[in-house]
Amino acid sequence: MMDSPDKHHIEFSDLLPEIVFEVDKKLRIKYLNDACAEVLGKPKNELLNTRMPIEGFFSPSDLDKIKHSIRENFSGHLVSGNHYTIADHKGNERIFSVHNNHIKKDGEVIALRCIAIDITSKEKNHKEVSSQAEHYHHIFMNSPIAYQALDKDGNFLDVNPMWEKTTGYSRNEIIGKNFKTIVADADLEKQQKNFQQFKKTGEINDVQLNIKTKRNRTIIVNYNGKIERNKNGDFIKTHCVFSDITLQKKAEQTLIDSEIKLRDLNATKDKFFSIIAHDLKNPFNDIMGFTQLLSLNMHKYDKFKIEKFIEIIHHSSKLAYNLLENLLDWSRSQTGTLEFRPEKFILNEIIDENIELLLSTAQNKNISIYSEVAPHIFVYADKNMVRTIIRNLISNAIKYTRLDGFIRITNYYDKNSCEISVVDNGIGIPPKNIDKIFRIDESFSTSGTENEKGTGLGLILCKEFVEKNGGKIWVESSENEGSTFSFTLPVPEPDFIQNL
Ligand code: ADP
Repeated sequence: MMDSPDKHHIEFSDLLPEIVFEVDKKLRIKYLNDACAEVLGKPKNELLNTRMPIEGFFSPSDLDKIKHSIRENFSGHLVSGNHYTIADHKGNERIFSVHNNHIKKDGEVIALRCIAIDITSKEKNHKEVSSQAEHYHHIFMNSPIAYQALDKDGNFLDVNPMWEKTTGYSRNEIIGKNFKTIVADADLEKQQKNFQQFKKTGEINDVQLNIKTKRNRTIIVNYNGKIERNKNGDFIKTHCVFSDITLQKKAEQTLIDSEIKLRDLNATKDKFFSIIAHDLKNPFNDIMGFTQLLSLNMHKYDKFKIEKFIEIIHHSSKLAYNLLENLLDWSRSQTGTLEFRPEKFILNEIIDENIELLLSTAQNKNISIYSEVAPHIFVYADKNMVRTIIRNLISNAIKYTRLDGFIRITNYYDKNSCEISVVDNGIGIPPKNIDKIFRIDESFSTSGTENEKGTGLGLILCKEFVEKNGGKIWVESSENEGSTFSFTLPVPEPDFIQNL
């Protein structure tokens, strides 16, 4: 006789959601609970003593496994805990974990007592979780964005293939190394501060950083990241993504540059029109008006009046000529037709020549001009451009210095460059205007102390020419005390000087 569960046991099993049944060696059902009858889809009494359905009930892929389990169990080797997929009587696929017990008689297994636990939803969850993990792994591996995880000291824990592609380092060679390995030297300090801030706030958003790749190329990346903490809130690691924005930044810079260029071109055009329309017209009005007066009334005017008129005509012609000279230089430099021909020459030649040219204008205001420039200073620059620079600086100094003032021209020489300064004790420039005077887009000009007219073109031309020669120009000025305009020019190579 086979052991079978007692009455209480039977009732108790019927309460269980798990399937409980017993089969003998011929797989005849000797006992089953309600849950088992429910899955098989027939009343208990119809199922008792019938053969447990195997084929058509278990999934075909599980058939070998179930047959092997039955064989092993009846030959005395316990096989238990396998998972099987079945189709219940409604055709629903369900997964069971089946646990077996041997019922023995005289040491021989005569029946199996089985409990099958429905793990369909658990398995489904497990499958979903693993397919999600697979999904994220796929994203991680194929992401077009570089990813990195760092520990709390900034050492690499993980990177993805895009990170490897962007930086040129392989995963193996970077894991364990510090983030500093890939930060460009110039940004090391900035990164240190970012990291402290990152730890404090828990996230980092759109931070731009210069990264040096394995091949020593510097790229600009845009960073975003979050901190991972444990349950106690302790900082464990950082997760960051970044994308290479070098090309984007370059394009942005090109756009900014061309915008500046366009703005300058537009300002240049405006300046030209305004100079031609007003500043050049005015002296011609004077010249034409006074020459007409003279030609009509020459016989009526006395000698002093005629002299006075001729002086005005001369002054206006000089003004127009100076303006034309600047305009022509400026237009040639803008259209690229002005040749740049640097040569070595003695600085004093140009300074003396200009002082002589402007002496009478200075004398009209009783301003003294003297040069303290040493006699044999050589510079290596375009002579015509230097002539224009000095002419403009001295004539400005005269224009913006009151009667009886003085102007000095000094120089400071070292082996790399020569610094030339035009110093006056004139009206000076208010600090708020200093930034405007070298800018084409500002259109800034004020009248001289004797109401001399200006155009705001001279200093722009000076800046253009100084920079073309590889130098710098700047001004130091105090209101009512005076101004010092300085610029630098290159000097000839040392052996060049020796060979002179
Ligand atoms: P302009 O003299 O024709 O106006 P510049 O470009 O030479 O044009 O100078 C621009 C402005 O800079 C002048 O209008 C004047 O306000 C100021 N400036 C230039 N040189 C001096 C100077 N030596 N002292 C005081 N102000 C000056």
